[in-house]
Amino acid sequence: MMKMYSFPCGGISYEDHTAPLQDSSKIAFLPTISIIPLVQNDGDRLQAVVSIGDTVKEGMLIGWGHTNIHAAVPGRVIRRVFWKNACDQEIEALVIRMGGSFEKLGKREDIFPWDGLSSHDLRRIVSDCGVVEMEGSGRPLAEALRAGGREKRSLVVRCVFDDPWLAADHTLCRERSMAVVEGSLIAAKMAGVNRIVFVFSHRELELGKIFLRQAGGIPSEDSPLPVSLVITGSRYPQRNRRELEIALRNYEKREMTGLGSLMILGPATLAAIYDAVRLRKPVLDRYIAVGGSAVKKPQVMRVRIGTRIGEVFAECGGFVAKPRRIASGSPLQGRIIVDLDEPVMKTTYAAFAMLDNHAGFFEQQNCIGCGECRIVCPVGLDPEELYKKIGRNSPAGQGPGQGCHGCGCCELVCPSRIPLAAAIYSTQGAS
Ligand code: SF4
Ligand code: SF4
Repeated sequence: MMKMYSFPCGGISYEDHTAPLQDSSKIAFLPTISIIPLVQNDGDRLQAVVSIGDTVKEGMLIGWGHTNIHAAVPGRVIRRVFWKNACDQEIEALVIRMGGSFEKLGKREDIFPWDGLSSHDLRRIVSDCGVVEMEGSGRPLAEALRAGGREKRSLVVRCVFDDPWLAADHTLCRERSMAVVEGSLIAAKMAGVNRIVFVFSHRELELGKIFLRQAGGIPSEDSPLPVSLVITGSRYPQRNRRELEIALRNYEKREMTGLGSLMILGPATLAAIYDAVRLRKPVLDRYIAVGGSAVKKPQVMRVRIGTRIGEVFAECGGFVAKPRRIASGSPLQGRIIVDLDEPVMKTTYAAFAMLDNHAGFFEQQNCIGCGECRIVCPVGLDPEELYKKIGRNSPAGQGPGQGCHGCGCCELVCPSRIPLAAAIYSTQGAS
């Protein structure tokens, strides 16, 4: 019986029956029109290296900057488009009409060795292939994985599923476990870490054991790099950096194993590293969890970057009725999609459409002082009290919500539907 590590207080068991099942993925149709953004999530603008009218091949570089972007399908660049997303960020994109033959799809894949490559060579390949952190702000990986000095470091492979909207990562771990595991070994070499820690939530213990076995079976000139399996709880927000670190420091104490500083990466990022290094394949597609109460057939899809979100919903049977809210990410922290022509990006791990009557759309009421928000806050804040203070001398970065990491637990349990999380988080600045 393996010990389970967790964080001490707060959190919720988050269930959502409108999220897709995690058993298998479906490959989406290739998009006739793809829209490839020249702006990353963190606002970094890329320089287009093709012009309107140019013919592009599948996987061809079409934009570069801190990270590269490639044509997900072959075809012709037919125009540039601009729009503002829900964060008022102006997005510029190239529109490609699909045509011609595919360079990679349906062809036998060559497997390239990596044992003889230096960490510098590996970073260059990963950078050329446009690999970013496939969640969050999508920061470029080559920089993040620069080898450290003498400092002790561990690569943490975060397979913690505390949110049913992580179904895409879960399915990826089941369908491409070898790619994720080998991607971890490659990332470990790139970053020069001392240890790899596979972290799985307790329901996925068997999957964790498979990862551990596979890591032992992959030949590498750098082995034996110590590899451990740590089991955590699945209470949300266990995968959040703070809560994950608490669990891992407890593990470290109990096992008397020095982990040093933690470099945390998710399975989608590690599979993209594998594709870049072993297959010389840029980031052309990704797994996405598609669902919500408005969607006829929620499922995990494997979708080309640049596919319009509207097409992805259409492949899931379309809508049962007009959705009230469409967003990408988890309902706990999603980003509103203002137009169904918005494309799938490298960081889009989920997309949902919710009906009017779905939880969260009820009228806001006055606080009834039930205290539920205090019970679930993992940081030990008093969201009810903080919410009252907001607005009174609370500039961003200096407000009363210091320490809040925007997990959304307080808001989810609030019977009065008070928008606590966004209000509190916004007063403490970026974390
Ligand atoms: S959003 Fe902030 S205040 Fe609310 S539960 Fe999470 S950490 Fe606590
Ligand atoms: S959960 Fe909502 S209603 Fe209950 S104390 Fe907190 S803010 Fe008030």
